[in-house]
Amino acid sequence: KLHNTILELKGNIRVFCRVRPMLNDQEHNGSEANHVSYPAATEFLGRGIDLMHKEKKHSFTFDKVFDHEASQESVFVEISQLVQSALDGYKVCIFAYGQTGSGKTYTMMGRPEEPEMKGLIPRSVEQIFEVSQTLLSQGWKYKMQALMLEIYNETVRDLLTSKSNSRDLGKQLDSIRNGNPSDLTVVDVRSIGEVSYLLTQAAQSRSVGKTQMNEQSSRSHFVFILRLYGVNEGTDQQVQGVLNLIDLAGSERLDKSGATGERLKETQHINKSLLSLSEVISSIAKKDDHIPFRNSKLTYLLEPCLGGESKTMMVVNISPEESSSGESKCSLQFASKVN
Ligand code: ADP
Ligand code: MG
Repeated sequence: KLHNTILELKGNIRVFCRVRPMLNDQEHNGSEANHVSYPAATEFLGRGIDLMHKEKKHSFTFDKVFDHEASQESVFVEISQLVQSALDGYKVCIFAYGQTGSGKTYTMMGRPEEPEMKGLIPRSVEQIFEVSQTLLSQGWKYKMQALMLEIYNETVRDLLTSKSNSRDLGKQLDSIRNGNPSDLTVVDVRSIGEVSYLLTQAAQSRSVGKTQMNEQSSRSHFVFILRLYGVNEGTDQQVQGVLNLIDLAGSERLDKSGATGERLKETQHINKSLLSLSEVISSIAKKDDHIPFRNSKLTYLLEPCLGGESKTMMVVNISPEESSSGESKCSLQFASKVN
């Protein structure tokens, strides 16, 4: 469109699959452990993945499959164009989907303090700021704003407020969507460091909830929104891009032993909002007339950035353990529905 390469996507939705390593790989140290663990659970074929579940093989195909050895860098390389298109004024959404423990947060945040292990969020922020610097010479000046929120049981919470008990902003989604929320913190950010600081603040704000509320962080969606307002001082062109990076709530189903009370309510809310997300994404892919954005807070919040000219990518995270094969199968089925 403007200064970046136009993305060649088949449709505007891409789905990647990523299988994390066995967590005790370091201890086992070497291929022997992998040999025992991997062929039992998965087999990698580049774009395809075969999953063994109850002695049956299930095959799936995605835009890309990353195996347990894929580095954070190699995953980022595949999405960096998509991220960069936000500087052209595109609306971009990147989701991490999967059961708790499958590597969603590792994929999105990684371990930001270790350069090799930085995830998609810090890498995306770095790229956006670095590229925006190089665009200065072409007359482009960007103003950027960061918002961070959490959606838990269909309530929406600001993660950047200092108020210890921030209230539900669920009723204000319209003003958040329109760009001028009165109660949600919107921070003007001028550097990578400022965004990193906010991400740390948001993570702390989430973990406060965690001790109070039954590992809330795995039961809630984390949404990071970076808004980019670009003006070209030479040509007067203007662009407004948005980058939405979302670490979704764990997709695990209710265990058959029967959860009750709060846990049951949580799971129902999560299932509802993940289902609604898959319905929205698949009806966008099918170019349906009616897209059911209003069925969940998450899809309603993201409506302006889903569909139309916008670009969506989902990373489906999979655990390699045989004991997770049932959940893995569900995740892969979910992902192939939206693909
Ligand atoms: P989730 O957010 O889906 O619950 P996490 O991202 O917290 O899962 O991952 C669970 C554990 O596995 C963490 O200790 C994380 O560091 C580790 N992990 C996940 N993916 C990878 C990976 N690709 N390489 C190395 N460690 C990983
Ligand atoms: Mg997580």
